[in-house]
Amino acid sequence: MKINALVAHDAAKPLSSSAITLRPLQQQDVKIEILYCGVCHSDLHMARNEWAVSRYPLVPGHEIVGRVVETGADVMNFKPGDVVGVGVMVDSCRQCHFCQQKEEQYCESGFVATYNGIDKYTGDSTWGGYAQNVVVDQHFVVSVPQALPLAGVAPLLCAGVTVWSPLRHFGVKAGDKVGVVGLGGLGHMAVKLASAMGAEVTLFTTSPAKGEDALRLGAKRVVVSRDAQQMASAQTSLDFIVDCVSAPHDLDPYLATLKTNGRLVLVGIPEQPHQSPNVTPLVNRRLSISGSSIGSIQETQEMLDFCGEHNITADIELIAGEEIETAFARMLKGDVKYRFVIDMQATHW
Ligand code: NAP
Ligand code: ZN
Ligand code: ZN
Repeated sequence: MKINALVAHDAAKPLSSSAITLRPLQQQDVKIEILYCGVCHSDLHMARNEWAVSRYPLVPGHEIVGRVVETGADVMNFKPGDVVGVGVMVDSCRQCHFCQQKEEQYCESGFVATYNGIDKYTGDSTWGGYAQNVVVDQHFVVSVPQALPLAGVAPLLCAGVTVWSPLRHFGVKAGDKVGVVGLGGLGHMAVKLASAMGAEVTLFTTSPAKGEDALRLGAKRVVVSRDAQQMASAQTSLDFIVDCVSAPHDLDPYLATLKTNGRLVLVGIPEQPHQSPNVTPLVNRRLSISGSSIGSIQETQEMLDFCGEHNITADIELIAGEEIETAFARMLKGDVKYRFVIDMQATHW
């Protein structure tokens, strides 16, 4: 079936509207009319081939909220009219240790990404959410809680779950002192979710002007990371840090803010690597550095349900599809409050 989408034709050209072909509905598939799609920094990395894995043409978008319009014969949990979400994965092997444990994001064969992946049925690319429709296996579709504003739900599907997963996996609990580095799409969700879990949040930012927002979003303290004095005052005060920065930077000043046994989790994936941190503080204070990849389908549903209970959505700027290049340019300057979301109905294809 042919639909319209915003397509990257190569790394240097702006995205433009073109027709793409979705796979025919399989028995276990759900066809979704996309209402909103968040603009993740990964979309920009991929559109520009910054991770050197992009295959063109490419349709970005993995923060999808929409309405079910059709279901295959084996679909039991969804029906036309349901409001649903799709995140970063649309399939996986279903058989390996991690798939069996419901951690598809660590599938030993690699999960099938929502875009720039290989569709199991057609062998063609998977096409992302900057589009009118998407066809997805029911296992990779989640339910959106009622009453949340839908445009603000879209960013939960990647930004939300990517910070939720490490907070949960590493057992962050009420009263913990949690640092968040970078107030962008992921970072602002980390501030909201960690503070809703009862943690006391410190936000590290390179943008002093974001300080007031951080406090409004739930942070207790804001530290301007380029100010050495402010960084010194935060020394050995934190149990856990989630680093959401999209660019390479020195990790040592953040490690210095961890207490003994503290953990720094990296979720940002910069184009170039961070320089190696200094080993001595890691050894002397038994610090850990971890990474974390998105979150499972089960975690995504848990996070959405938590957001439904706590009335949490992303702070967004709604755009039409034709504004995507301006959005990318502002994103590169760290100038987003705090996620762009494409309104498909406002888009002229
Ligand atoms: P974003 O909205 O662009 O936010 C990134 C933030 O990083 C900026 O707002 C800025 O915050 C800070 N920053 C940017 N450049 C910086 C620099 N040179 N030095 C220090 N700080 C800088 O990006 P996002 O969508 O949240 O994504 C963040 C990163 O996570 C990207 O690399 C993305 O690909 C990655 N990601 C990973 C996963 C995963 O599974 N692990 C999932 C989704 C995204 P301040 O202005 O506050 O300093
Ligand atoms: Zn993403
Ligand atoms: Zn697997």
